[in-house]
Amino acid sequence: MRLAAIEAGGTKFICAIGDDLGNIFERIVIPTTTPEETMEKAIDFFKNYKFDALGIGCFGPIDLDLNSSKYGYITSTPKVAWRNYNIVGKLKKHFSLPIIFDTDVNAAALGELRWGNAKGLDSCLYITVGTGIGAGAVTEGNMVHGLMHPEMGHIMIKRYPGDTYEGKCPYHKDCLEGMACGPAIEERWGIKAYDLEESHEAWSLEAFYLAQALVNYILVLSPKKIVMGGGVMKQRHLFPLIRENVVKILNGYVDKEEIINDIENYITYPGLGDDAGICGALALGSYALK
Ligand code: ADP
Ligand code: ZN
Repeated sequence: MRLAAIEAGGTKFICAIGDDLGNIFERIVIPTTTPEETMEKAIDFFKNYKFDALGIGCFGPIDLDLNSSKYGYITSTPKVAWRNYNIVGKLKKHFSLPIIFDTDVNAAALGELRWGNAKGLDSCLYITVGTGIGAGAVTEGNMVHGLMHPEMGHIMIKRYPGDTYEGKCPYHKDCLEGMACGPAIEERWGIKAYDLEESHEAWSLEAFYLAQALVNYILVLSPKKIVMGGGVMKQRHLFPLIRENVVKILNGYVDKEEIINDIENYITYPGLGDDAGICGALALGSYALK
């Protein structure tokens, strides 16, 4: 079986051909410009191959409601050219086969569950900490949807004592994304995140904010695994700091082995590395055929 996949991001689109074992055979990276230009290049690439289904993990917000007239649209994105763009409709005009559409982070969660660090489980949460913060989740084998889809990057969190940074979120200022995304770290300290030394106080704040978010996700969704990806999480020294804070905040309340004795494996990096998103889109494709 051959599957097509798109990881549609705000700066680049990754298009790939692979299979339902998570192998990728061909891929291209297209810079995200206008919908017309970007989609034309993606469609030209896919026309070279035969495949059975197409999965799309997409930046959002997006409309996932099958009963909505706007199903398959990117909706209120800050990327103006893509606002109200019918991405699934455009692809359907060229490919008459099952197409499945979800958020980039729900796709990554599915990818990690199928082939990555959550393999063998039926639930996991994937969070990316990069230009923005977003998280997706799979529970009992299905991606979490609802009124729209979770927007877990925008939850409210307590401030680190003495942190007076106003916050970067254009909607909420000091929500999780506003306080802890890569650009927020860089604006708060005036230093590129990858240039901040391990001993810099920035990382204590970062771990404090991310740990609060994870605690909230643990208490609300009860995921069996938490996978943390995105540019900021390349700072591997953040993991022990985050785990320590999570244990401290939970204070024994969630009395499970995974948290009490095995937090190193419970809060982990993507097993698929930088391919969590594109492999997730591939996993969506295979999900479409089920
Ligand atoms: P995007 O979120 O745009 O898909 P990334 O996940 O790579 O892309 O996130 C980019 C942001 O992550 C940058 O703005 C930067 O702040 C931060 N970042 C990228 N690489 C690193 C790194 N090695 N260490 C710390 N921060 C990083
Ligand atoms: Zn926000």
